[in-house]
Amino acid sequence: MQTWVIGNWKQNPATNHDVTMLVDSLLQATNKDNVTKNAATAVCQLMVAPSCIHLASVSARLQDSSLLCAAQDISAHSHSTGAYTGDCSAQQVADAGASWTILGHSERRQYHKECNDILVQKMSNALAQGLGIVLCVGETQAQYDAKQTLSVLDAQLSVIKELLNQQSNQSPECAQKLADHLIIAYEPVWAIGTGKVPTVTEVSATHEYIKQTVASFAAPLANISVLYGGSVNAVNADNFAASPMINGALVGGAALKADSFLAIADAF
Ligand code: PGA
Repeated sequence: MQTWVIGNWKQNPATNHDVTMLVDSLLQATNKDNVTKNAATAVCQLMVAPSCIHLASVSARLQDSSLLCAAQDISAHSHSTGAYTGDCSAQQVADAGASWTILGHSERRQYHKECNDILVQKMSNALAQGLGIVLCVGETQAQYDAKQTLSVLDAQLSVIKELLNQQSNQSPECAQKLADHLIIAYEPVWAIGTGKVPTVTEVSATHEYIKQTVASFAAPLANISVLYGGSVNAVNADNFAASPMINGALVGGAALKADSFLAIADAF
């Protein structure tokens, strides 16, 4: 199973100078002999998601490294061009060097009212331009307390079924194409940026549920990677990495320092 450690930089760092420093330290560390050897032998794929404004410069600098670049979001309205002020399309982020895009992050759902309909359009736009999708799902604290996690996941994961239904050609090739371009990141909203984490047993059981659910939509989806996100750091990463159900991590705060990001990568 492919493992991934993905750094979601969110609206950070503030300046080009600070972005350059972060990329410098990532490149220095990944060029060291031991890390290079590791990168060549380990299955773990590293990826960073800078803000849209920094995407082109970061991806240009990471071009010859083992790190991939992702966008944090793309436009729902067009995968190419159009009168959509403030949006960046899948084509534009791909041209800037992104091969993947994060979609449905809880901060997009909370601050931009992203709902399933919008997400299906964004997923479809990503695929139209050959971008991979890191689809984020997860329950709020209130939903967790009310033991609604699985029903929340059912509702959020239904976008995948919707997308498959929408594709004119519902062939096995179509499902396989989606499987090749999809990662799920399970991120309990209450664990993001809080220092609170669910137990590895809880996360493993939830991931098993996610894997079964997506496999029930289409057989090829049985093999997609499911990552955990929410307060992953250099200290707790080993615990999560020990579970075969946890195929990597989506990392926020700890991805803003090369040493903690790469320590998490080492764990996987
Ligand atoms: P965190 O963020 O690692 O800072 O909790 C994770 C995320 O939002 O993807």
